[in-house]
Amino acid sequence: MGLWAAVKAERLGVRTLLVDAGRLGQGASGGLLGALMPHMPDKWNGKKQFQFDALLSLEQEVAGIEAATGMPCGYRRCGRLIPLPKPHLRTIALRHSQDAETCWHQQDRRFHWHVVDHTPYEDWPDTSFAEAGLVHDTFAARVSPRGLIAALAAFLRPAKHVRIVEGLGAERIEPERSRVIFAGGESVAFGHCIVAAGHQSFPLLRHISPPLPRPLGQAVKGQAALLKADVDSALPVIFLNGLYVVAHEGGHVAVGSTSEDVFGNAASTDDLLDDLLDRARALVPALKEAPIVERWAGLRPKAIDRDPMVGPHPDHHKVIALTGGFKVSFGLAHKLAEAALRPVNGEEMQLPGSFSLENHLAATAR
Ligand SMILES: Cc1cc2nc3c(=O)[nH]c(=O)nc-3n(C[C@H](O)[C@H](O)[C@H](O)COP(=O)(O)OP(=O)(O)OC[C@H]3O[C@@H](n4cnc5c(N)ncnc54)[C@H](O)[C@@H]3O)c2cc1C
Repeated sequence: MGLWAAVKAERLGVRTLLVDAGRLGQGASGGLLGALMPHMPDKWNGKKQFQFDALLSLEQEVAGIEAATGMPCGYRRCGRLIPLPKPHLRTIALRHSQDAETCWHQQDRRFHWHVVDHTPYEDWPDTSFAEAGLVHDTFAARVSPRGLIAALAAFLRPAKHVRIVEGLGAERIEPERSRVIFAGGESVAFGHCIVAAGHQSFPLLRHISPPLPRPLGQAVKGQAALLKADVDSALPVIFLNGLYVVAHEGGHVAVGSTSEDVFGNAASTDDLLDDLLDRARALVPALKEAPIVERWAGLRPKAIDRDPMVGPHPDHHKVIALTGGFKVSFGLAHKLAEAALRPVNGEEMQLPGSFSLENHLAATAR
């Protein structure tokens, strides 16, 4: 989120200091999966429209970053297959198919939620999982998380208006003095301060708020793995009961993700990931013998009201939240960053109301 905010600030000519406690991209964004999954097309509302617009515009945004840096981001609108193990799921899927025809379009672009009897791709997934057919969604996409992050960082390093400082952690924000205090005692003055520190944003923002009955959000651990397999990188994402299988470039397939509210070691991987890998190998025969290239864990920022948390603090308007992307940050970050910068120029954010920091602050008392 912070990298996109810095890119947008650079384009607007806003003088910016981008500070990271470690290396750029070392947080939850530096993972393996990169699935860009639309919400269900039913019960359409402002949030779903925002996500649809963001997922669509990401295509151009990534193309712009790739053109500026010459670095590939591993983006592809590959679509998604959702096996339907039971007949009643097919009935629901057929309804959603109608919904997608109504909602999933913009000008001349149309996307579909087809319900098909068989997978169009041999053994992707194994037919035994699709007794009632499959959904073939043509809107979903994927991106290489590390490819995108490396390209955003490469865009920023020679930037005119953005200076990057790595290895410097913000300890607290003092809004009355318009200063950020860093670990070690150094500080810097700000005109506006965008807080995009992933799950660490929650305590930073709580510290400048009136006493809150509950934290503003939590870290939810996720584990994923990368396999080496001889599969076509154009294949759609497979999604089944929380399990994602994502074909990336270079014969790599990502498998994810666990979702753990309670965990001991944030960085370790364990038998929960082994279980997920077993499920993936059963679902996709091509993965049966595929060697593991990497096992990885990260902490997602889940805001108290679940939605992203973006916008000015109601008591300190110069401090702006940009966090809470939880499981869908990659598809939204460029649009949320754009919105977070609007108040810097005295403009309205134009986001769904439930995304505002004010809404999340109120949710701590509910
Ligand atoms: C296993 C797993 C799979 C996922 N899969 C997907 C997926 O398929 N699609 C998708 O869209 N999303 C996915 N996500 C979620 C997504 O990765 C996260 O929601 C997103 O990366 C969060 O981005 P962020 O910029 O808010 O936080 P982060 O990426 O965590 O970045 C926060 C940055 O702030 C820095 N920082 C922290 N504290 C401080 C401080 N005090 N001072 C200065 N800097 C600080 C950190 O060093 C870090 O670089 C997944 C997450 C996990 C864990």
